[in-house]
Amino acid sequence: MTVTRFAPSPTGYLHVGNLRTALFNYLIARKSGGQFILRLDDTDPERSTQEYADGIQEDLEWLGLTWDRIERQSERLDRYAAAADTLRERGRFYEAFETPTELELKRKKLLNMGKPPVYDRAALDLSEAEKEKLRAERGDGVWRFKLDQERIEWTDGILGDISIDAASVSDPVLIRADGQVLYTIASVVDDTEMGITHVVRGSDHVTNTATQIQIIEALGGTVPSFAHHSLLTGPQGEALSKRLGTLALRDLRDRGVEPLALLSHMARLGSSDPIGLRGSMEELIEGFDLTKFGSAPTKFDVEDLFPITAHHLQGLPVAAVKDTLDGLGVPTDLQEPFWLVARDNITTRHDLAGWWTLCTEGADPVIDDEDKDFVAEALSLLPDGPFAADTWRTWTSAVKEKTGRKGRGLFMPLRKALTGMDHGPDMSSLMPLLQVVKAKA
Ligand code: GLU
Repeated sequence: MTVTRFAPSPTGYLHVGNLRTALFNYLIARKSGGQFILRLDDTDPERSTQEYADGIQEDLEWLGLTWDRIERQSERLDRYAAAADTLRERGRFYEAFETPTELELKRKKLLNMGKPPVYDRAALDLSEAEKEKLRAERGDGVWRFKLDQERIEWTDGILGDISIDAASVSDPVLIRADGQVLYTIASVVDDTEMGITHVVRGSDHVTNTATQIQIIEALGGTVPSFAHHSLLTGPQGEALSKRLGTLALRDLRDRGVEPLALLSHMARLGSSDPIGLRGSMEELIEGFDLTKFGSAPTKFDVEDLFPITAHHLQGLPVAAVKDTLDGLGVPTDLQEPFWLVARDNITTRHDLAGWWTLCTEGADPVIDDEDKDFVAEALSLLPDGPFAADTWRTWTSAVKEKTGRKGRGLFMPLRKALTGMDHGPDMSSLMPLLQVVKAKA
């Protein structure tokens, strides 16, 4: 059975970049009838918070990305300690005592010599007595995994065949000097013990994957399939990393982006499939194909989400927006006519408030100088409310007869006088909803 996971660290809110990772893993699991696990990578007690852990779950629920199981790394520390013991027993784990400053010096030296800044493994040569001495002076060391210096190869679900020379990678630190277990070992232990079959994550993890493959093998686990999706850039190809904070899912939600619009866009962006609205989550699942995604950075423009949102809203029946209409105080019997009039004239649900205010409070009339007399005359012919479905037609015919105006010269000044705008819903459908006409008052 296919088992995937989405493994955010609860050190911030989810943003569009995380969403791609979550969505791809979700879609793969659902398409194959497998399982999708939400794993909170919360081994860093200083940076992880309950607020973010809750926020991540709220955001995924808002999008309908349901998980079959939730796991928290902070509850599995004993598993990581056991794996560390195994690596120690198997001669693949060693303690190193360099200070950050010393490591930085070594790095600089290598870079100056034009060499890759790979850790020189000096700690491997320390005798037990030397280690004791360093421990007494500096406290516990960090624990590094001893890579086998050979090529690490896998066929990536997106990038194709990958081959990385382990000698060009530093032996990864898996446990910090203060005993804190780091992501690399925790992730490997979880992926193995939870039976993860497919790992999809950002291409910033490619080197991690190389080292993780060796760690999994050293622990005797089964290596999952890996796929690395490209990272998002801004619309001009600029790095998005600094702006991701402003692209939090909850901010998009607050700006009125609809879940299905967001999911539709993110599930196809960067693939060879056309982007645009899809009708349902089922359709997204059915059509999802990881092999259609390319390795090139993927341009993302937040503004693209709004036309898709508008398109989505235009297709919704009134029942789908009942809560919003209730929230605005639209009486039940007016909800359907109001929605049918308004839905083609909104970008997000937030825009409904403006149209409802127009209906209930009227708008400040806009009357051009040259139309003053015409509008005054027309308003004298406007019957008292409530208006009916044919009010606009009968009224404008009467005005036409009386003034001789027709076409745009007839309709536009009346629209502007009644709504304060030169655009908007079909006036015949809008009239019955107008409870107040300020221009008449
Ligand atoms: N917590 C890691 C991250 O957010 C997970 C990476 C992974 O999927 O293994 O980058």
